[in-house]
Amino acid sequence: MEAPRPKVPPGPKPPFLLDFFPLETPDQTRLSAFYDALRKGKFQTTRCRNDRQLHWPPRVACPKCHTESLEWVDLPTRGKIYAFSALLAGAPLGMEADVPFVVGLVDLDGVPLRLFGRIVGKSWEACRIGDAVRLEPFEIDDGRIFYRFRTEP
Ligand SMILES: [Zn+2]
Repeated sequence: MEAPRPKVPPGPKPPFLLDFFPLETPDQTRLSAFYDALRKGKFQTTRCRNDRQLHWPPRVACPKCHTESLEWVDLPTRGKIYAFSALLAGAPLGMEADVPFVVGLVDLDGVPLRLFGRIVGKSWEACRIGDAVRLEPFEIDDGRIFYRFRTEP
């Protein structure tokens, strides 16, 4: 049984160019399958059918061989903090109420991918390199979905 998905409280609507969350529908992006999967609790990316290269972020064409022959593959939802930083002041528009918060690089377990994202669950003073985290999809108040990482207890 999956835990209920957290909802981010509504904040001020940022101007389009300052909106940190991507556009997600099929008329807006060819990567809408990523968000559809995330809504179902699956974390996916693309892999090239030619050279088997795993991409992050998901792509519409392979950056190595330029083919559009890609497939969606499931990614692990657990990983470890490779590096992190705390945002103590000067938060981006719409995130002022979250200060202080942690951002970092997470090495996913079992795949050669290092992802950037918000890290929640521990104060920045308590976070350590190597801490275990898991993926946590969350809903944005306008109906979109995105992900962050939550530290394991
Ligand atoms: Zn390729």
